[in-house]
Amino acid sequence: MRRTKIIATLGPATDAPGVLAGLIDAGVDVVRINCSHGSWDDRARQIRALRDASAAVGKYVAVVGDLQGPKIRIHRFAAGPVTLREGACFVLDTAMDPKGGTVAGVGLAYESLPQDVVRGDSLLLDDGQIVLAVERVEGTRVHCTVVVGGVLSDNKGINRQGGGLSARALTDKDRDDIRHAATAGVDWLAVSFVRHAEDMQEARALLREAGGPAHLIAKIERAEAIANLEGIIDASDAIMVARGDLGVEMGYAGLTGLQKKILRLTRARHKVAITATQMMESMVHHRMPTRAEVSDVANAVMDGTDAVMLSAETAVGEYPVQAVAAMAEVCLGAEAYQFSTGRPRDRSDDQFETVDEAVAMAVMYTANHLRPQAIIALTESGSTPLWMSRVRSDIPIFAFTRHEVTRRRVQLYRGVYPVAYDITHSDPAAVDREIVGVMRSMGHVEDGDLVIITRGELTGVSGGTNSMKILRVSSQ
Ligand code: PGA
Ligand code: MN
Repeated sequence: MRRTKIIATLGPATDAPGVLAGLIDAGVDVVRINCSHGSWDDRARQIRALRDASAAVGKYVAVVGDLQGPKIRIHRFAAGPVTLREGACFVLDTAMDPKGGTVAGVGLAYESLPQDVVRGDSLLLDDGQIVLAVERVEGTRVHCTVVVGGVLSDNKGINRQGGGLSARALTDKDRDDIRHAATAGVDWLAVSFVRHAEDMQEARALLREAGGPAHLIAKIERAEAIANLEGIIDASDAIMVARGDLGVEMGYAGLTGLQKKILRLTRARHKVAITATQMMESMVHHRMPTRAEVSDVANAVMDGTDAVMLSAETAVGEYPVQAVAAMAEVCLGAEAYQFSTGRPRDRSDDQFETVDEAVAMAVMYTANHLRPQAIIALTESGSTPLWMSRVRSDIPIFAFTRHEVTRRRVQLYRGVYPVAYDITHSDPAAVDREIVGVMRSMGHVEDGDLVIITRGELTGVSGGTNSMKILRVSSQ
């Protein structure tokens, strides 16, 4: 069984008939819905189609709603794309007609740009394809010199190298999208361009106010977020290494080191890690990934990521299903190598904070040394399997839960597989036998196998896990 989870971004390519079912069949665990495009009517339709397609094959697929955030973009050009030549002057003007751009300058909606930049700053347009040096600021106009030229077209993004643009993480549109996400049945909410922990707290408060149970993902894509990393991790449920914008703001040379650092810190703080952007980019137009892409995905797996993400590959690509299939194969290959390299460490130096965390850690220590066939966690919110999956292991962790929300949520956790089971409907004395029966009927265990089961005294209560049982499977 593959442990690393796969996220596929939905888009025009996945709206084509049969593609969604193909993605699920190829191994997608989670889909991402991008709030930068389309309307909530479209998204509601996509979520319904996904729920139908996954129910048809008995799988649980989680939905990530990804907020647009304060992506700063230029406005439009009057007569199509312009070509900027090195050494030429170019003006960014917050007061210019939004459709009036020329080779001499263009408008933009981000009013505070003139206050946020000073002479000598580098501004990167179109993911760093074009570089401008700030010469001087005059009222609403930022005068620049073109350092790296090229073709510039409508609505391209702007980043300041080193970060420092003061835009708030949550725009008015994001606040509105959070309210919609709460009612649309989104399982995870991704916050873009997070600067510090307070951005996550604010998003969480807005979501809870609107009645949404989703857990939160912080996208690490600004220089400020790197400075405040630990606080952001603690204020989030999951972290995304958003390599697209992060690579532009921080420069690509340091990106791989940053990815490793973010993955390590996130897992060490018991949170979930996602590695994203351009992982299989060439598959937008090709059937096969490049060897560099294969290596990139495999290294993220070996670095301990919970999930790897596809963006354009599935949203607008020519081979969305093949991209998922290729990613699934690479994950399996990387995991096989990883478990051939020796026994993982077991946090033996750590202090545990709660009883359920201690039980989860005891289970993982036992599992990695006794080598049972499966770990089974009876869970309400999914927190016991989350703790378990922070410890490296090749033993599968089955999250038995009566809550569909939890079954979808745990799809993001590495090595955790959801199973529907309602403990409140069973005779307490028969629970173990029932659980083993479910596992046997799913083909996960057979006679003679060992399994570890964890549960709480008060069945159906969140945070109550206090016991671990080791059973040998037998048909008697
Ligand atoms: P995006 O975020 O795909 O929403 O831009 C991911 C990234 O920047 O890498
Ligand atoms: Mn981004």
